[in-house]
Amino acid sequence: MADDAIDVVNKCVSCGACLSVCPVYDVTRHERLSPRGKYRLITEIIGEGLNFVSEDKDPEKKLLPVKVHETLQGCVQCGACSHVCPAGVKLDALVRNARGADCTKGLSTPRWLWDILKSRRLAPLLAKLVSGIPVTSGLIWRLIGLEDRRTLKDEKAFHFEMPSLAHRPALSRRHFRLLDPGRVIDLRPGPRIALFLGCIQNYLYPEVAEAMIRCFGGRVMVPLGQGCCGMPAWSAGAVKTAKELALQNLEALETAKADFIVTGCAACASMIKQWSKLFSEKETEKQIAINVANKVREFSQLVVELNALPLRLSGNRSATVTYHAPCHQRFDLGGVVESEGLLDRLFSDAFWPMSHECCGQGGLFSIGNPELAWKIFEKRLSAWHRTGASIVVTTCSGCLLQWRAGSAHKTEGHKVLHLAELIDKYSDKT
Ligand code: SF4
Ligand code: SF4
Repeated sequence: MADDAIDVVNKCVSCGACLSVCPVYDVTRHERLSPRGKYRLITEIIGEGLNFVSEDKDPEKKLLPVKVHETLQGCVQCGACSHVCPAGVKLDALVRNARGADCTKGLSTPRWLWDILKSRRLAPLLAKLVSGIPVTSGLIWRLIGLEDRRTLKDEKAFHFEMPSLAHRPALSRRHFRLLDPGRVIDLRPGPRIALFLGCIQNYLYPEVAEAMIRCFGGRVMVPLGQGCCGMPAWSAGAVKTAKELALQNLEALETAKADFIVTGCAACASMIKQWSKLFSEKETEKQIAINVANKVREFSQLVVELNALPLRLSGNRSATVTYHAPCHQRFDLGGVVESEGLLDRLFSDAFWPMSHECCGQGGLFSIGNPELAWKIFEKRLSAWHRTGASIVVTTCSGCLLQWRAGSAHKTEGHKVLHLAELIDKYSDKT
């Protein structure tokens, strides 16, 4: 069982409220891919204890695994449905649980990906190695974009497919070095702030983490030994891997003895807050995970809490900005008031808000469902056009990746920035 939400499987009253907020249903209009449809499919074919009933001699039922697989993969894990459901159905959790069920073995994410994510040595070494190879974007995304499309006709056939969002960045050559165990100690006065990087800021966009450090006046330590937060594994129902990753990170973050743990990724912050669910009451790590969860802040939350916004901002600001609110910030971290409030203070009349909807990234979702991810993202691009803003700002690494990849064709003058980069860029450093 992936988490604690399975006790709500029988509560759907088919009201349809979830249909209006589901980004996948919005672009497909397939009832089966709607939250309500997924609920029905999952509860019809999953009996007590999440046992799929696909091992049937009935030829009709032989189609079940592929159909179930498609349905389960067609979820961004945005959490919007659970947020609006009047009956309290936690559909995103139900999907995670079903993804983790035994029958999907072989149809889900390749195991070697989890092994790489779990390895403290392999992931940084591989990143360093591959970042030295020209045009790594193509290689990396071809490797990760490996899709297992096993069909009944040819169960052993594998199809390799490049995600349609082709403008993925290459790995950065100057990612943080987090291989060695040890401590980083900052003895300056004031609150001790530890930075949790997450994979994307470590390997793709270290400049975002560097901007965050500058925003806090350099008074930030980067605990060694940290790694992937576990969100991709958790979303795929790979609970054991998520727990192993949580254990590694808890050790690293505990060693830092920080007052606050800040991350520039709303998805990482959300996952850190859920680590305690991975441990039983008897495990000592549960209380450690709760303590860490209490210290974690998404970047804009900590800027507001510590009043760390620069007093003076550069007067030379011709830009207009809008904000893309990450789903994990909206539904798991208490909303976007801090981020939008900071933009309002910084840009006032030049801050042009846009509607809050999913960008379609969803971790492994955009790799496994490139066409769906693109259709969802196109709607965000239109929303950006409607605002007329020149810069779109966000506070989640996955969203940043999706926006930069999906808007790479946009004309000069249009930018996608993390909020930390924006604050850093417009701070008056004189
Ligand atoms: S909002 Fe909840 S109760 Fe209504 S259809 Fe969706 S899952 Fe069922
Ligand atoms: S979590 Fe998001 S994508 Fe998945 S079913 Fe719910 S609303 Fe749709």
